[in-house]
Amino acid sequence: MSADIIDGKAFAAGLREQIAKNVEQLKEEHNLTPGLAVILVGEDPASEVYVRNKGKQTVECGMNSYEHKLDANTSEEELLALIDKLNNDPTVHGILCQLPLPDHLNSDLVINSIAPEKDVDGFHISNVGLLGTGQKSMVPCTPLGCLLMLRERHGSLSGMNAVVVGRSNIVGKPMANLLLRDSCTVTIVHSRTKDIEAACRNADILVAAVGRPEMINADWIKPGATVIDVGINRIPAPEKGEGKHRIVGDVEFASAAEVAGAITPVPGGVGPMTIACLLANTVTAACRANNLPEPEGLAA
Ligand code: NDP
Repeated sequence: MSADIIDGKAFAAGLREQIAKNVEQLKEEHNLTPGLAVILVGEDPASEVYVRNKGKQTVECGMNSYEHKLDANTSEEELLALIDKLNNDPTVHGILCQLPLPDHLNSDLVINSIAPEKDVDGFHISNVGLLGTGQKSMVPCTPLGCLLMLRERHGSLSGMNAVVVGRSNIVGKPMANLLLRDSCTVTIVHSRTKDIEAACRNADILVAAVGRPEMINADWIKPGATVIDVGINRIPAPEKGEGKHRIVGDVEFASAAEVAGAITPVPGGVGPMTIACLLANTVTAACRANNLPEPEGLAA
């Protein structure tokens, strides 16, 4: 293996440490404790784990965590009324509504009813537009985490060829916009792209956000490229015992690491950065709400 491993777990731990210091300073100097409200509708087991981890890490960084667990049958009116209350609560600086929502709720309507300045997931249509036009916005957490790791590795990204595999609203598109804003030459490829491998082989920075286990192998990678693997895929692992699974990314790690200059592992790469960036966005939102300077290194 020749590639450097980009240790997202360690990077996220460092970021959380910095956030905790920022929070302490906000408390001491401005009597301000950033607060994050997380709404979970229904009982999806994976979502419950995410929400629990978010709450735990929020508190560990010294912030206030407000969890709102609602019944799966909650009506749209009830959910919108709760969001309205949180929008108007000055102790709440960030609001996150855990997706996916039950089918009877309109996710777009719900997300767009969160006040844009409290939309720490960066999914509100205003934040999407602000990011697309290069203005100050709340940035989606997973692409923000990828960007912070890339900046840490390369400093300036200006002039680099970046290829993003996947065009989803939560990862692919905002990632491409962030890379464009950092002056990369950006290509987005997706399921209809002709000769996707050739496009990827041109990438100095390759971001994989597909959701297909180990789709990208060494042949797709330019020697020395930086590979960011966003994918989280559960595949059967009979070697671990009957019915057991393991997590792999969208990149075939072992072969890719022979060619790439640097690569994020799965698990332990992008994943831990996502929650750390949610905390970063909450601090950023609290500072903006109080007209205070934003701590360096937390925003895009
Ligand atoms: P989506 O399913 O919303 O989007 C997947 C994208 O990949 C689509 O644009 C799709 O193209 C494209 N795609 C699918 N198959 C192919 C193919 N064979 N060749 C080229 N492109 C293809 O997924 P998300 O963006 O939400 O997530 C992507 C991955 O990242 C998943 O594994 C998810 O679990 C993971 N993830 C990880 C996070 C983290 O914290 N680390 C956070 C969010 C997601 P098309 O549009 O043409 O259909």
